[in-house]
Amino acid sequence: MNKRAKGVTVWFTGLSGAGKTTVALEVEKRLAEQGYYTQRLDGDIVREKLTGDLGFSKEDRNKNIERNTFVAKILTDNDVITLCSFISPYESARNYAKKEIMQVGEFVEVFVDPPLEVCEKRDVKGLYKKAREGKIKNFTGISDPYEKPKKPDITLKTDQETVKESAQIVIDHLKKRGIL
Ligand code: ADP
Repeated sequence: MNKRAKGVTVWFTGLSGAGKTTVALEVEKRLAEQGYYTQRLDGDIVREKLTGDLGFSKEDRNKNIERNTFVAKILTDNDVITLCSFISPYESARNYAKKEIMQVGEFVEVFVDPPLEVCEKRDVKGLYKKAREGKIKNFTGISDPYEKPKKPDITLKTDQETVKESAQIVIDHLKKRGIL
């Protein structure tokens, strides 16, 4: 049986390899098992489709967030649990997303926060190596800024937690807020 939640966007922010996609997938799986409508918007995927024309300058990163916020807002307005995984390194862009989405529903900011060294050691996509070699420019954490959230709703230490534990923290927060 499908269940309706209060519309919400859960916004995962953090460095490449921090665990945004992995935790969002686990949260989605757990919610789907309980019959909730969910939709993931993932940086790597939308950048192939919705925002494939954009690069990684501050201006383009902001446009990327603006377009995805537009989609997340529509989904949230339709009571879908929307799970966004974007590096979203700029505080102003995250605040923009929050302001827009709070017009129609709830917004939960999740700072996925293992140390940079851990992300670099994981190097899931081999991008840190390329960034260190100078083959990729504007790489967040190496040659581009990441502005840490000042007051995230949740901080996940994915170097110290299992994926299941991180996902549980998110789900518990949604329950505590009365969203689930
Ligand atoms: P991002 O989406 O932030 O770029 P990914 O989810 O693609 O990061 O990669 C994170 C990597 O870290 C994966 O290989 C994942 O298996 C690993 N990992 C280890 N522990 C955790 C955890 N608690 N949460 C999320 N990812 C973890």
